[in-house]
Amino acid sequence: MTISMLLRRVCPYCDKMNDYERMFNLHRHIQANHTKLLPARPKSAQPPKSSQTFTEQLKAANPLVPIKFMCPSCEVLFDEKKDLEPHIEETHKIFLAQEADTSNMHWIVNNLDVTKCFADFKSSIISHCDNFMDVDRHFCQHLAMSSILFIQKRHAYGNIPINVLSVQQHHQVWASLLGDFDFQQQLDPTVYPQLKAILTKYRDSLDTDIIDTRMAILAIAKGHSGPARNAILAVESLLPSLKDLDTGIINSENHLLAAYIHPVMTSLFATSGDHVAQCANIKLKSNSSEGRRPDYFVDLYERYQFQDTRCIGEVKLKHIDNILKIKDFYRLAIFAKEELDHHALSDVLCFQTIGLSTTFYLLTRKPGMLVLFELTTIVLPQVKASVLSLLQYIDEMYSLSKLFQQIHKVIPAADPYPTLPMT
Ligand SMILES: [Zn+2]
Ligand SMILES: [Zn+2]
Repeated sequence: MTISMLLRRVCPYCDKMNDYERMFNLHRHIQANHTKLLPARPKSAQPPKSSQTFTEQLKAANPLVPIKFMCPSCEVLFDEKKDLEPHIEETHKIFLAQEADTSNMHWIVNNLDVTKCFADFKSSIISHCDNFMDVDRHFCQHLAMSSILFIQKRHAYGNIPINVLSVQQHHQVWASLLGDFDFQQQLDPTVYPQLKAILTKYRDSLDTDIIDTRMAILAIAKGHSGPARNAILAVESLLPSLKDLDTGIINSENHLLAAYIHPVMTSLFATSGDHVAQCANIKLKSNSSEGRRPDYFVDLYERYQFQDTRCIGEVKLKHIDNILKIKDFYRLAIFAKEELDHHALSDVLCFQTIGLSTTFYLLTRKPGMLVLFELTTIVLPQVKASVLSLLQYIDEMYSLSKLFQQIHKVIPAADPYPTLPMT
């Protein structure tokens, strides 16, 4: 290949001319050593195909090829390093610039101005961003830099510091979010006893034909529509995977996805003709972060064409290292933000599956921020003997399916908040 250009990724603020192999590492260096946050380069802003990363050897071998300095945040190239800093200061100091804008709308929960609270928290983190380098130790702070307030039910991923939101305030905010979405819905109470009777018979008698069991459940589903039907179908969809065998702990991510997660997710979120649920390694998403994809997503189509992605998930086996779990979840949150921004969606549903346990979250919009909050956790049964345990989540499945249907486009589209580059 002929080389048209040699590209340097050097720090605009240091006198040293160290070259960084990955742009992400340059961003980390700027954050740690210069206390500055810069936005990621847009996905479309890839360097010219015939260019190469600068090395002394390439330079020696190609003395006539021009050398250009890359902006860490856009596609502009510079002939001289000294031009980088003024360009960045003028164009890309967007993290702090947003601080003044808490505009006129405020989100108030029980007399607490959450908008102001979060704006203060975010601004103090951004101005001390060199203290928050590791996502596993400063999870909430990392999300806050990208304007996401993280509200969970319990302290699984570390919380907002209590001087920002006390434990009680945190819980009130969580409860108020569930209330805003009217999340805790109840499925028609006549369904539960019917399903219980069918599944008990299936579990306990050796000669119950699985086809009869499935048809009996399908008949109940047919008598309902929308989210209620979807929740009932989710129960039916899992039956073929539940065996009366000592299959041992699930040790394949593909098996977990194919036999358990996919049947339930596709029933809850993609029974209509215009939704497609899939395990993501099939397709490269054009707008997604370079080389990274979520494990699972549900796409919406309109008039045969792809529209947007409204649900994404990450799936891991049960005995996953805690740091990996946090990093996985962080990626999920940033993916969700990208989808929300890119397609101007009101919300994006996210889930993280660890073994057979799946926790759902919703990323939504509130004045001055995005909020990612925990909805509920569903634990799927692994074998036939525990099939009835699925019924305790029937209302949750109904509520999730209902919530998913409420996701819509926001018109006019709001300006996205800047996003921190992903690992
Ligand atoms: Zn530097
Ligand atoms: Zn730039």
